[in-house]
Amino acid sequence: MIPYGKQSIDTQEINAVSEVLKSDWLTQGPTVPTFERTISEYCNANHAIAVSNATSALHIACLALSLGPNDILWTSPISFVASANCGLYCGAKVDFVDIDPISRNISIQKLQEKLRLAKQNNSLPKILVAVHFAGRPCDMHAIGELSTRYNFSVIEDACHAIGGTYGKQAIGSCEYSDITVFSFHPVKTMTTAEGGVATCRSEEIKNRLERLRSHGIDKQSVRHNEPWNYEQNELGYNYRMSEVHAAIGVCQMKKLPGFVDRRQYLFDRYQKRLAELDVKLPVEGESSFSAWHLFVIELANSETRLHCYQFLREHSIYTQVHYIPIHLQPYYQRLGFKLGDFPVAESYYQKALSLPLHPELSDDDQDTVIEVLAQALS
Ligand SMILES: *Cc1c(COP(=O)(O)O)cnc(C)c1O
Repeated sequence: MIPYGKQSIDTQEINAVSEVLKSDWLTQGPTVPTFERTISEYCNANHAIAVSNATSALHIACLALSLGPNDILWTSPISFVASANCGLYCGAKVDFVDIDPISRNISIQKLQEKLRLAKQNNSLPKILVAVHFAGRPCDMHAIGELSTRYNFSVIEDACHAIGGTYGKQAIGSCEYSDITVFSFHPVKTMTTAEGGVATCRSEEIKNRLERLRSHGIDKQSVRHNEPWNYEQNELGYNYRMSEVHAAIGVCQMKKLPGFVDRRQYLFDRYQKRLAELDVKLPVEGESSFSAWHLFVIELANSETRLHCYQFLREHSIYTQVHYIPIHLQPYYQRLGFKLGDFPVAESYYQKALSLPLHPELSDDDQDTVIEVLAQALS
């Protein structure tokens, strides 16, 4: 069986987890801060806050940027539902910006048009969640300029994009955004089993994220006559990452450059060998480096896509579709979205198929995927 994604774990992680289990600290010990430091240094961000998963990171990122009822959050319809749900958790309204058919990221032109209209209608977003789809960075320079002109905050949903760069900076540096969020779910580029991180530059945002991660409680007591005292100053959550998960993350961070290289190698191989088939291939962005997390091809139409999915599956090759447009999920349709709202995303969805791509995929297995796909299309 060849899965579309798979974690890469060996004795290093197993030993690191054993060490934590034998130690005094299963949670709130020294390993989480070590993991956070590793990430913030790698990304050249001032701060990294480790949490239970990227969904909780997105939630407290929105809260740290003061998203609330009467506010509006925009994101891409071609993402995992979590990119939009975070706005709803805060009681805000969610809306989408259609994608660009080449980058498959939010279309900058559509974003400009929608912002111009929103300004006239007094319905500007408070937050834009920019999703680096498949690992290809969004045009952050343009998004940064628009965020200044129209006064909205930017969260980078970089769940696909750790290891990539934008301009001279690593994804996660927050050069053009307020907060960047990574996921360490096992199918992502690196894993902590479950886990996520939010990076930021601002100390104030970092303090808010830390407080929201842990019940809204401030760590330091200010009352000298009550040294046990702690103060809850706002409503927070328990979104902490455990020491066990962080220990896996510390090992994975050492392997990240190797993971990215292997993915790049497999990506280049797919590009070369699929060039002759009747499929639309992913395109590398300008002035950025994509740490490819997904290899998404587009077939001629939805019938061909279904045929390829089933044909590959009969040959024990498991592909996936990223993603069903969020606005077409029944829950979002009940909020008023409908087919036809974001036509480029919908057309992309009809044809998209993610081929297996992960560091454990051997050259031979990749050759099998390519051959079987060619058969399916012949
Ligand atoms: C995986 C993913 C998430 C959610 O990550 P979790 O760690 O599973 O909560 C959010 N956004 C995108 C784009 C993702 O791929």
